[in-house]
Amino acid sequence: MGLFDFFTREIAIDLGTANTLIIMNDKVVVDEPSIVAKDIQSGAIVAIGKTAQQMHGKTHKLIETIRPLKDGVIADFESAEQMIRGMIKMIHTGNRLITPSLRMVICIPSGITEVEMRAVKESAERVNGKEVYLIHEPMAAAIGIGLDIMQPKGNMIVDIGGGTTEIAVIALGGIVCDKSVKIAGDVFTNDIIYYMRTQHNLYVGESTAENIKIEIGSATEDLQTPPDEKSVQGRDLLTGKPKQVQISYREIAKALDKSILRVEDAVMETLSQTPPELAADIYNTGIYLAGGGSMLRGLDRRLSQKTDLPVYIAEDPLRAVVRGTGIALKNLERYKSILIK
Ligand code: ADP
Ligand code: MG
Repeated sequence: MGLFDFFTREIAIDLGTANTLIIMNDKVVVDEPSIVAKDIQSGAIVAIGKTAQQMHGKTHKLIETIRPLKDGVIADFESAEQMIRGMIKMIHTGNRLITPSLRMVICIPSGITEVEMRAVKESAERVNGKEVYLIHEPMAAAIGIGLDIMQPKGNMIVDIGGGTTEIAVIALGGIVCDKSVKIAGDVFTNDIIYYMRTQHNLYVGESTAENIKIEIGSATEDLQTPPDEKSVQGRDLLTGKPKQVQISYREIAKALDKSILRVEDAVMETLSQTPPELAADIYNTGIYLAGGGSMLRGLDRRLSQKTDLPVYIAEDPLRAVVRGTGIALKNLERYKSILIK
């Protein structure tokens, strides 16, 4: 081990629109929502990740919560950098006297622009990143799922995150065709807020709607193992009083239907642009799902019925991308051609 190695840490970062994860030494050392809370007057960061999340929707005049990567783009560069810095600081390095320099691979949503990519890279360099590589999300997801992406064989990946759904066909270590649509977890959550307002006159916040989605959300009205009804509390739009209603998964399936249709359409469109030899491969291998949105009940079955293909959900779908990013970090030589220096 050279002196350089001794002072160098290697980390892999999945900079997601909803969650940021960091792997160091094969372990997930950070897994936090991509959110910061700021003091409006001084601009100082008061909380990052889970603690900032708890403040979301409950802030007063002097504090605001910001999701720097909302909608699959970097909406707020300064907050994004502060967030990356804060999350890296969360890693307990053992030795506080020296700040090690970092070799990093960062996974970025593939919809982000050249300028945004440069901004992420520069932010990383400012937090002591001496060697910084970027990797596109569908690539990282595919590696994390365990696919051999270097083979002359087509694979289709659908990563449903918070801000975007990224669909890609990968072969020979490259993206052959892809599509990124801004219909994903956040839109599903907003659909639920809208549904509650229009069908039940109930005004619910984002966190409540997200809980509904996770606890009883569904992509279809005929689930084989349906979840129990859920009591939902919010504010009555007519009387202004707090109130509670009972909701079934069928209602949520109705609320989400239009958005799921758009995800289906995007998958169909990507399939129709796939070169025939690769389409033949996908006929045999099927479609792989990753990202938190892939856990929506019945979504895999619905996509399978639509495409007539087998659909598989990645093991631990929220971590597939960071896992893949970590594998790329450990095998820099092998994955040289897909990393963006
Ligand atoms: P990103 O990569 O954009 O940060 P993630 O892959 O971390 O996104 O997924 C986050 C999204 O997944 C959020 O919108 C969250 O609400 C959603 N999600 C998490 N768990 C579930 C679940 N069990 N069912 C449906 N959606 C879920
Ligand atoms: Mg992601």
